[in-house]
Amino acid sequence: MHAPSCVMSTYEELANSGVADLGTYEPGRPIEDVARALGFENADDIIKLASNENALGPSPRASAAIKAFAQEVHEYPDGGTFRLREALAQHLDVDPEMVLPGNGSNELIELLGHVFLAPGRNIVMADHAFIVYRLIAACFGADVRSVPMQAFTHDLDAMGDAIDTDTRLVFVANPNNPTGTHVQRDSITRFMERVPEHVVVCFDEAYIELLAPSDQPDTLGYVREGRKVIVLRTFSKTYGLAGLRVGYGVAPPDCIQLLNRVRQPFNVNQVAQVAACAALEDSGHVERTREMIRDGLAALEAGFATLGLQWIPSCVNFMLVKVGDGQRVFKGLLREGVIVRPMRVYGLPEYIRVSVGTGPENEKFLATLKKVL
Ligand code: PMP
Repeated sequence: MHAPSCVMSTYEELANSGVADLGTYEPGRPIEDVARALGFENADDIIKLASNENALGPSPRASAAIKAFAQEVHEYPDGGTFRLREALAQHLDVDPEMVLPGNGSNELIELLGHVFLAPGRNIVMADHAFIVYRLIAACFGADVRSVPMQAFTHDLDAMGDAIDTDTRLVFVANPNNPTGTHVQRDSITRFMERVPEHVVVCFDEAYIELLAPSDQPDTLGYVREGRKVIVLRTFSKTYGLAGLRVGYGVAPPDCIQLLNRVRQPFNVNQVAQVAACAALEDSGHVERTREMIRDGLAALEAGFATLGLQWIPSCVNFMLVKVGDGQRVFKGLLREGVIVRPMRVYGLPEYIRVSVGTGPENEKFLATLKKVL
């Protein structure tokens, strides 16, 4: 029998090395949380433009489906997400075996880590790309090869150069959060011509529905060809269902089978499944969302121009704007009841990121920004 060890250890010392060095992901602050912390009596005085949500809300069809389902939540969800996979397969013109829904597309990023990452392996990503790729790589002890962007846009030629024999995943957020930029179709074609066989390319297309159809690359075409490609999409943004947590991956069936082995049995709840099916049928809501965003981006650009600020032109429902000390402006806005995101963790301390809101929300944001500056 071993004698109990007398050496004192902290939890931190006991943690896996990747976890010990990890920061905690900081999401956009919820309205209630800000109201509590800053002593607002009325939470309605606060607006949140911090998480790239759909300011129009969910599709009324999705809300109706949720209400209709309320009496049935005592049953476990369909762990195989049959109806949702069928609906997505039809929508995307792929086989249902190529679709895996997840608890937000964030879950799919984690599942990719479970399947493909380990110490000694690495991921390739752009330096100002969605931060969750970095966090997941760290969780699995994998290295991150962080490639500088060109003009706030993924430099796919340089990312191709960064691939080595230990690379297992390349993440391309297209359009990218937080820069709001997208990559040209021909640079994707060039990149895909040279990606080696031992690398899985993840095209994270969380905002793809907001791109003009002529700018949308045919990444699902690579999946249909059986290339080592996974496309991630979500119901959180254009479809307005962020609170339900439902996204999905599309990949060749042998990749989906591996991802299925490492997921929880009931990873997507049934309310989310029925709402997602209903939302998918409401193309009118998607069209109204696009219009609202088009108007909102124009209003924000006009406001920034009046204030003499520089911004990064965006194709999606959020924008980076250069304000000097981003942390100070973030806090100043927060005190006035306007929640945005500071960008220090993205290596962009002079910027804040603001999501497009409704007309009155955008106006309130611009008026408050003027006051804070
Ligand atoms: N990818 C990108 C580029 C994102 O911006 C987000 C949300 N911030 C996600 C993935 C994850 O979205 P969700 O988990 O809500 O589907």
